[in-house]
Amino acid sequence: MYIDSHCHLDFDVFTPSRKALIQTALAANITHFINPAVSFANWHKVIELSQAFPFIIPALGLHPVFCSEHTLDHLPELSKWVTANNIKFVGEIGLDKRYKDNYESQLLFFEAQIKIANKLKKPVIIHAVKSHHDIIGIIKKENFKHGGIIHAFNANETIANTYTDLGFKLGIGSILYHPSSTLRKIIHTLDLDSLVLETDSPDMAPPNWDTKLNTPLSIIPTCQLLADILKKPANEIQSIFYRNTLKLCEL
Ligand SMILES: [Zn+2]
Repeated sequence: MYIDSHCHLDFDVFTPSRKALIQTALAANITHFINPAVSFANWHKVIELSQAFPFIIPALGLHPVFCSEHTLDHLPELSKWVTANNIKFVGEIGLDKRYKDNYESQLLFFEAQIKIANKLKKPVIIHAVKSHHDIIGIIKKENFKHGGIIHAFNANETIANTYTDLGFKLGIGSILYHPSSTLRKIIHTLDLDSLVLETDSPDMAPPNWDTKLNTPLSIIPTCQLLADILKKPANEIQSIFYRNTLKLCEL
């Protein structure tokens, strides 16, 4: 069995295929889906989806790539919505240095959301691109101890160990398909208990995926690829990841 620890099934691109896709994924033994929100405007969609499909686990947050959509008013709203809806994770939050123009604003929203998650004692789902130093600095400064997931992890062993020592799991997805990626180079050094599988659907389709639209179903070949790289049986890897993710979701 599998859990997709990061997908955006609420995105409009899934509207025509969503119900059928979810049925196909369930039939393929993908039992749960963690669905982080990206901005205030899609929080209600993520919550509605989790009400219609209780195996979709919602997270609420303000994503750095959607920074221009966020206002300071959304921060107190985040506390209210997470509490009122008994949300398990704050996310997707983080920093992305590919977007330099609003990086100061990203820092403000990330730090504020770490403070909120700390106060509410919630784990977080972090989008970290070229910004690990700042992310780790803020987590340490805020003495944040509730862990969560570093989504689409792709950094060196020292950074990996820093995150796992801080109580985070590392999200492993389609970056693994790229032989020159840092992740691929260090994957054999990572403790399997510190990893979770993810797809980031509809984005980050594996290179051999037959459609540009990534779906939670790509978690199956990604798990097989990891098993092949580590030379371990796929069912063994699959059950370790399943257990890790269930525990993280307190299921
Ligand atoms: Zn995402």
